[in-house]
Amino acid sequence: MSLRLFDSHCHLNLPELAPQMDAHWQAAQAVGVAALLIPAVEQAAWQPLLQLRQQQPDWQPLLQLRQQQPDWQIALGIHPWWAAQHSLQVVTELETMLREQQDAICAIGEIGLDFALAPETFSMQQQLFEAQLALAARLNKPVILHHRKSQPHLLAAIKRENFADGGILHAFSGSPEQGQAFIDCGFKLGIGGTISYERAAKTRRAVEQLPLSAFVLETDAPAMPLAGFQGQTNTPAQLALVFQHFCQLRPEPPEQLAEALWHNTQQVLRLDPTSAG
Ligand SMILES: [Zn+2]
Repeated sequence: MSLRLFDSHCHLNLPELAPQMDAHWQAAQAVGVAALLIPAVEQAAWQPLLQLRQQQPDWQPLLQLRQQQPDWQIALGIHPWWAAQHSLQVVTELETMLREQQDAICAIGEIGLDFALAPETFSMQQQLFEAQLALAARLNKPVILHHRKSQPHLLAAIKRENFADGGILHAFSGSPEQGQAFIDCGFKLGIGGTISYERAAKTRRAVEQLPLSAFVLETDAPAMPLAGFQGQTNTPAQLALVFQHFCQLRPEPPEQLAEALWHNTQQVLRLDPTSAG
């Protein structure tokens, strides 16, 4: 039996992982990771990510014949931690890039709101987030959402915008009810190392109680190490452990879980031509 897993959130391009990018990818593949999504955090990352994406062998006739997608997907956007380093003009530049590279960029991200940061950053965070969400709506792209102390504000913006293209609420933590509110808006919940901590009772309950169709897996490498690995650099190969923890919280057999999670990720990122919509 071979399982295929999709790391829906992995910062392979950040300095902690980039020097050993190929080794990390090989280690991840060895434990069943068959695809990953790298979201940008700042404008300086966009062009290098596009180049990484274009090195992917999706031009190969065999892949085209099987209608397979390349293994590495990318999302471009401005993360709230980097908001202060940009002006709103950056969203116009993002739009130009997205229009030129429609097929290479599967989502807008990582975007969102982080209200654990200093309050003086909130106004710029909010402006950049709303402009990027509006851009995603115009271009019909899903979004990759970052949240910290901001879930209600994200939901409010999604509803104000009538945003209907969905995406992934990355690094989900919260109750089943909090998760359901995003599912109702067309989002999947990104489940990562958080569920390996016994103290994450609410999040673990959400994994137990919400429908399987609600979830995708992620590592958020190099961040968010699992329980037992605190202080270490997280890597995409750890997705296999995230999956094991996920399996412990669900009644379905691992093969069924892996297949559903893979399908959920393909669907929300619109990578599978047979599951569009
Ligand atoms: Zn991230």
